Amino acid sequence: MADRILGASLERVTAALPDAIKQAMQAAIPETYTPELAAQFAEAMITELRKSPATSQPITAAERGTEWTLRWGCPDFCIEEHGQPHALESHSTAPIKTSLRVADLDCSGYSDNGENLPWMTAQVVVANDKAQAYGRETRVWLGYGVHLAEVSPGKAREALATLHGFCAELEAVVDQADEIAKDDFEGDPEIAAAHEEAEYRRIKRISEAAA
Ligand SMILES: [Zn+2]
Repeated sequence: MADRILGASLERVTAALPDAIKQAMQAAIPETYTPELAAQFAEAMITELRKSPATSQPITAAERGTEWTLRWGCPDFCIEEHGQPHALESHSTAPIKTSLRVADLDCSGYSDNGENLPWMTAQVVVANDKAQAYGRETRVWLGYGVHLAEVSPGKAREALATLHGFCAELEAVVDQADEIAKDDFEGDPEIAAAHEEAEYRRIKRISEAAA
């Protein structure tokens, strides 16, 4: 709860922080206080606050207040930072994400462009621009690595049912893998070294014969 409150009020807290730090330093350490030192201290604290996971919770339109929701036409749940260059024109719930990233799983080498992306994400997106003329439409975004599906809620439910079915089958595969893996064993490094040496000599012979 404290995290949510701080997340929602972070801008107000950081705006008030420089003055508060000035006053605190003047009172506590008047002999070393300078405005520059206070400003440096405030900047460092604000940087830390912004980095803190406690404050990285997205702020909802409801938390931003009525002025914001009226200005951007936001439903209460919307976490889009409208007005920022990266913001959507539509409204969105906070995405859910797997902590597992594409790069944690991918061995194809093709994930370079999106290696830090979560394996899967999902969020609800609402388009309501000039709603009286164009209506309001709810879509679900399903992200999988660099790919993004934008589907109707009905299609999202179909995807969910498919995933449920797949999860049951995946569980069987993982169980089977555990069983099969019981027969796995490490090789003998001495035999491996002898094998590599023999391979090296074989290739050397071939390349000398070809020269
Ligand atoms: Zn919005």
